[in-house]
Amino acid sequence: MTDIKNVSVIGAGVLGAQIAFVVAHAGFKVTGWDINDDAVEAAKGRFNSIGKSMIADLDTASEESVAKAHENLSLTTDMEAAVAEADIIIEAVPEKLDLKRSTWEKLGKAAPSHTIFCTNTSSLLGSEIADASGDPKRFINTHFANRVWARNLVEIMPNPKTDLKYRDVVEEFANEANLAPIIIDKEQRQYLLNSMMVPLLQAAQQLYVEGIASVDQIDKDWRIAMNADQGPFEIMDVIGLRSIVNVAQGSGAELPEWKLKFNEIATKMIEEGRSGIGDGEGFYKYDAEGNIQR
Ligand code: NAD
Repeated sequence: MTDIKNVSVIGAGVLGAQIAFVVAHAGFKVTGWDINDDAVEAAKGRFNSIGKSMIADLDTASEESVAKAHENLSLTTDMEAAVAEADIIIEAVPEKLDLKRSTWEKLGKAAPSHTIFCTNTSSLLGSEIADASGDPKRFINTHFANRVWARNLVEIMPNPKTDLKYRDVVEEFANEANLAPIIIDKEQRQYLLNSMMVPLLQAAQQLYVEGIASVDQIDKDWRIAMNADQGPFEIMDVIGLRSIVNVAQGSGAELPEWKLKFNEIATKMIEEGRSGIGDGEGFYKYDAEGNIQR
């Protein structure tokens, strides 16, 4: 058992709201922070829809347990108040290095001396941010997957200055929060999941744009051979094409012909309101529950 009781989630957007709600559902007191009243209102809406999805998707969630999660949650725009009693902070502000660093400068000063510092980045390393907090030995990356309640993986990645006793506490906390912790020993920009998944998605994109096979046949091939629930294009619909295009464009690398062509197709789909499951349509069409209409 850890001593963690109070959890602060900084940035209650797509991922922050999910993390906050899932942790509150597991019985922790959670204080969410966001930048202004509009963002706090948006977070309330997110909490409501996450609660509904949890009831639909999980045997372990009910009207009562979700109501209790709402009771465990509070929201504020006052950062100092948000972390005043935090045993652990999970930060999920946008993926911009300057913003992450300036946020951690404030958090490091405002938090108690025992608080564990976690950042949920997609590809920024802890060693690029940790010193801004004022105490890098308490600083660690925790990488959650979108739809945290259903895909409850959390990749825990220390940086070279992290004291590993905090890694062990975060691992135990993750178990207490009904998450599935995965330990990464050495810093890696795309963690384990994206290091494996991005090459798969890119191979599928290349096969498609070069006319080797259709979306449907590529997905079917993968599903049958790997006994998988989803093929690569179904995965891309869940991630959303905006992220897929942003990651490629943000990499700074010179893109090959097939990737430029794929980005063109994806950008057109986004403009047409077909960015993935969130729009009800991406490579496939979805019903209101998010099931593919084949
Ligand atoms: P998001 O844009 O949905 O949420 C970010 C939140 O931070 C918003 O509520 C926003 O109001 C708030 N915020 C606080 N300070 C801000 C400022 N100065 N400027 C703008 N917004 C500010 O982003 P997200 O998708 O929840 O991503 C958060 C972090 O999690 C990022 O580092 C992202 O890379 C990472 N992440 C996202 C996913 C995903 O699938 N969305 C998956 C894994 C990791």
